Amino acid sequence: MSEIETYRAQARAWLESVAPKYSRAARGKLNLSVEEDLALGRQYMAEKYDAGYAGINWKTEIGGQGLSNMHKIAFDAEEMQFGMPNVYFGISLGMPIPILIHYGQDRAWVKERVIKALRGEEIWCQLFSEPSGGSDLAALRTKAEPDGNGWRMTGQKVWTSWAQYCDYGVIVVRTDPTVEKHKGLTYFWVDMKAEGVEVRPIKLAGGDSHVNEVFFDAVRLEDSQRMGEVGGGFGVALHTLMIERYIATDSAGFGPHLDLFVDTTKELTINGKPAIKDGRIRSAIARNHAMRAGLDSITKRAFAMMQAGMQPGPEGSLQKLVAVRSRQKLSEMALDLQGNQAFDFDPHAYVKEDWGTSWLNAPTGRIAGGSDEVLLNTIAEKVLGLPQDHRPDKGVPFNAIPA
Ligand SMILES: Cc1cc2nc3c(=O)[nH]c(=O)nc-3n(C[C@H](O)[C@H](O)[C@H](O)COP(=O)(O)OP(=O)(O)OC[C@H]3O[C@@H](n4cnc5c(N)ncnc54)[C@H](O)[C@@H]3O)c2cc1C
Repeated sequence: MSEIETYRAQARAWLESVAPKYSRAARGKLNLSVEEDLALGRQYMAEKYDAGYAGINWKTEIGGQGLSNMHKIAFDAEEMQFGMPNVYFGISLGMPIPILIHYGQDRAWVKERVIKALRGEEIWCQLFSEPSGGSDLAALRTKAEPDGNGWRMTGQKVWTSWAQYCDYGVIVVRTDPTVEKHKGLTYFWVDMKAEGVEVRPIKLAGGDSHVNEVFFDAVRLEDSQRMGEVGGGFGVALHTLMIERYIATDSAGFGPHLDLFVDTTKELTINGKPAIKDGRIRSAIARNHAMRAGLDSITKRAFAMMQAGMQPGPEGSLQKLVAVRSRQKLSEMALDLQGNQAFDFDPHAYVKEDWGTSWLNAPTGRIAGGSDEVLLNTIAEKVLGLPQDHRPDKGVPFNAIPA
């Protein structure tokens, strides 16, 4: 057994030992509210930290385990199968905390935040999107103006995941409207409990409210909350998005595994025969298998490159685009096969095990973290080397662009 296989087996044994308390199967019977589930999630994170499975690939000086990306991937692959209550901490530990580790100035304070986030005691959000700047991050309008030895921030963010439960957030704002749109931005961390911060949840089609509008009314920021140079915020934001690209990869598009589709087609019928015998269904299974196997290979290569100290290429943009489309199509097909039964929608069903929930939530997956169209542009320009998309505001000062 290789070292990683041994580690994986140990991780599996630990996960099995806590599953009776925390797994999706165990929690499903309890009919918990989001707040109760989050409370259980915090307990799970603390136990995971104490067991040595938190911050697996982060340096020990900052509260991590000092192991490799491969150890992290091995643990995550096992953990995903249990449906543990860790969804609340995904963004927090995925992007904001790694960025804080990189750019945070007060190391002792940063370490304290890292450990509290790993233990699930504190949660961070990522405040990038705005009504006027989603895909085009550099179009954002939330501003921070100099205020004594700090800044005063006013504006609105939108689609901020888990903001209603967050203690802190990372945020990009405009500090200079007189220069080109990419050059006038600055990156800060913000205290989500500060005076002037208001969070309003948005209800999604699937029934949950994990995304929010966040309003900032003259919120005070100390200059020590700045991460990176004044005017260098776009670069820090790109760094954040590069981390985001590889932080979570699931060739099933965070929906059901292909094996579940195969099982579904064995149980359901077309014209009185098992659906799996139908040529169209068999072709869909084969196509999706090939697509997902291709994505898994890209991911393995990217992680091997990172392990070797190299930067993976822009092909990571393919991951979400292809995976979520594949999930949406398969979910649609499974619903069609179920006929009227598909109307029996269970709002508490698990997205990785239920076709209705998967289908209803798939469109958000095609938008969040970069819409399909924007990913297609990235692939065209960065992977295929095609000419840049039309950019009429290039080189124009931000305050000269018509609002
Ligand atoms: C469930 C969910 C969770 C999210 N969580 C967060 C979060 O935690 N933090 C955060 O900051 N944001 C979050 N977002 C926001 C998400 O990143 C944005 O919705 C996304 O970047 C798209 O921006 P937009 O909604 O402003 O759409 P727009 O940018 O207004 O796009 C509208 C349409 O125009 C197309 N379009 C726009 N520009 C181009 C272009 N250049 N070329 C071709 N087509 C284009 C888009 O593809 C889309 O179809 C979340 C979104 C969702 C749905």
